[in-house]
Amino acid sequence: MIAQPVALEPDRQPVLDLLRIGHRFGRLRAVDNVTLSVGHGEIVCLVGPSGCGKSTLLRIAAGLEHVQEGRVRIAGDVVAQPGRDRPPERRGVGLVFQDYALFPHLSVIDNVRFGLSALDGAGQRRHALAALERVGMADYALAYPHTLSGGQQQRVALARAMAPRPRVLLLDEPFSGLDARLRIQVREQTLDVLKRSGVATLIVTHDPEEAMFLADRIAVMRDGRLAQAGTPVDLYCRPVDGFVAGFFGDVNRLSGVVRDGRVATAVGAVPAPLMADGTGVEVLIRPEALRLTEAGGDAPRARVTGARLLGRSSLVQLRLAGGDEEVEIRARMPGLFIPAIDSFVSIDLDRCQSFVFPTNGAI
Ligand code: ATP
Repeated sequence: MIAQPVALEPDRQPVLDLLRIGHRFGRLRAVDNVTLSVGHGEIVCLVGPSGCGKSTLLRIAAGLEHVQEGRVRIAGDVVAQPGRDRPPERRGVGLVFQDYALFPHLSVIDNVRFGLSALDGAGQRRHALAALERVGMADYALAYPHTLSGGQQQRVALARAMAPRPRVLLLDEPFSGLDARLRIQVREQTLDVLKRSGVATLIVTHDPEEAMFLADRIAVMRDGRLAQAGTPVDLYCRPVDGFVAGFFGDVNRLSGVVRDGRVATAVGAVPAPLMADGTGVEVLIRPEALRLTEAGGDAPRARVTGARLLGRSSLVQLRLAGGDEEVEIRARMPGLFIPAIDSFVSIDLDRCQSFVFPTNGAI
């Protein structure tokens, strides 16, 4: 697997730098040589399957885990390297965790004041109220956490993390305790607050759609390593391998062989311009890359074996001749598209959403 260089946008100053970070738990290499930066005003999401090392990397940035290999820099200062760690409270980082960790015996405003010990009482109160104002929770200043909804608690946790005006904000699965509908609403509000604050933010999430919604850049981890980092469009449209392509959405997987810079598949030829003739490849095709029509013509035709309306789109299962045997594929059409079972449809392939990787590569 090729780790891409992790380029900041040219006009952004790096605030958090994680440099060649490595970390072991016994024999397990949980983080393996990861380099990643977060710029001023930038939101970077760290994604990947369960156990790939996301939380460990975030905890190293926070100072909750000692650095074994590599260095952590914040605003140019080295805050951690092997044998020398600055504690979390002296790093200028704000933290928000999945369970929000609000103090149950303190009111909302006292929770937010907690991190403002450098100010006098009046200053603490003014700062805390301003932070609650920014997340729309000033009216609840005297309430206690147990009287708040999950979404409200999340906003208080965000206000508490941001009140001391940290240079870096670190969030670990901050929305996963919320139900699906509330999660969408709270993450929209959070994005707004983060963007207005301009703080450099690193967010761990296992949800690719959430990452695409929130992030300026996404870093995908696999088995402790950085698989690819880039904008949401980069990762969705130009994945470096089958793992990244599959992580950001369902894919049909077909096999083939390169001939004259193309791979013939059951749904049409896909370009493979940089690959040698005879290379065995896997072709990954997103279901939304297959546009179905009832018209005839020269396009490949497939038999419908199933069709379901999923709300915004319809999922259509198809069977068609592919070499010696039949292949099954899934197409996703916008809106309501439910052709009759055993009817035939024509397939038009959007080649921009089709990816070719050598079979011996990392898939
Ligand atoms: P998830 O999405 O499930 O939270 P993750 O990508 O955040 O996963 P980590 O929590 O960073 O993954 O864990 C990486 C690996 O390190 C996992 O295999 C995990 O079991 C292991 N691990 C994490 N913390 C410890 C620990 N304190 N002691 C031993 N092993 C650990």
